[in-house]
Amino acid sequence: MIYLDSAATTQLDPAVLNTMIEYMKYNYGNPSSKYYQQAVDAQNDLKKARTQVAKLLNTELEYILFTSGASESNNFILKGIADKYSSKKNHIITSKIEHKSVLEPLEYLKKKGFEISYLDVDPNGVIDLESLQAAITDNTALVSIMWANNEIGSVNDMVSISKICKEHGVLLHSDATQAIGKMNIDLSNKIVDFMSFSGHKIYGPKGIGIAYVGPDNLGIRYKLSPLIHGGSQEFKMRSGTHAMHDIVGIGMACEIAKETMNSNVSKILALEKYLVDGLVDLDSNITINAYTPNKLPGLVSINIPGINNEILIKQLSPDIAISTGSACSINEPSYVATALGKPTFEILRISISKFTTEAEINILLDKIKSLI
Ligand code: PMP
Repeated sequence: MIYLDSAATTQLDPAVLNTMIEYMKYNYGNPSSKYYQQAVDAQNDLKKARTQVAKLLNTELEYILFTSGASESNNFILKGIADKYSSKKNHIITSKIEHKSVLEPLEYLKKKGFEISYLDVDPNGVIDLESLQAAITDNTALVSIMWANNEIGSVNDMVSISKICKEHGVLLHSDATQAIGKMNIDLSNKIVDFMSFSGHKIYGPKGIGIAYVGPDNLGIRYKLSPLIHGGSQEFKMRSGTHAMHDIVGIGMACEIAKETMNSNVSKILALEKYLVDGLVDLDSNITINAYTPNKLPGLVSINIPGINNEILIKQLSPDIAISTGSACSINEPSYVATALGKPTFEILRISISKFTTEAEINILLDKIKSLI
């Protein structure tokens, strides 16, 4: 099987797999227990993994919270802020092409009385900074804008977005699930107040993610309402016994990402160019969506005029995995394609990973050629 759907999930890095297997064989201590050796070992392992994550983001370990994934992190941050700020400010700004795990909690908050502004995106899937500026009011509690989009690979200008939010004293959250490991995200300059991502998009395990809750300069840290109440693990913001095998897995995945990101990105960009050139050679009417110099490396979104995306991916599916878009909006037409003004039944996503080879791209191109 040729796997070209790494934006949906990635294959585990063999070193991550090995770390997790060895961990599960020999380690079973609970880091919230006390004094005895297994507990102390687990506490050290937890700290090591938190440090590995923090190093990737160039931040401090106390800002890193382990959750079950980006969906939980997004829910926790959005609902947690809303809960604390509802009596003071009840306006949140987001974009129309956020992941469902941002849009759905915001829909929920809307029913609870919050006002949500949904910013349009330009034809390349990027929000307009002037529109953001214009949307902020005295009542705005939070801006939540994704770092990079999961269907078309567009990348927002987070530095400028951050500047605008800081000028207005508004909190900023970013869903960075697709950007982590593919872009250099340096949080030492406090570009965002909150950030979310998942382990399984960076060659790590599923069911584990990170909520970054930044320093307390705005008086928010430790004030966020937990989504999961209970034993007060994770700085009293997220309860539940730590899933240590997943935690050491995401820690290792972050360490590998830090060491290998530059070389992976160079390789992925070369393959992406090879793929795009090959597609355009196949049919000059194929459009490559959001194809700008600062797009997300490896995510190629295309429209093949007159070709139904569902039918094509089914025909490819015995040998090749590509997708119509997000795996999280099953059976729904792509709202991202709609926001870009593209036909929803034509959009296809091909996503390249560090494991992809040129030979695999050639097979995909040959197969598409024979089908269209
Ligand atoms: N945000 C984005 C941009 C994503 O691509 C995904 C995964 N498709 C998520 C959030 C949710 O991640 P998870 O399913 O691991 O919770």
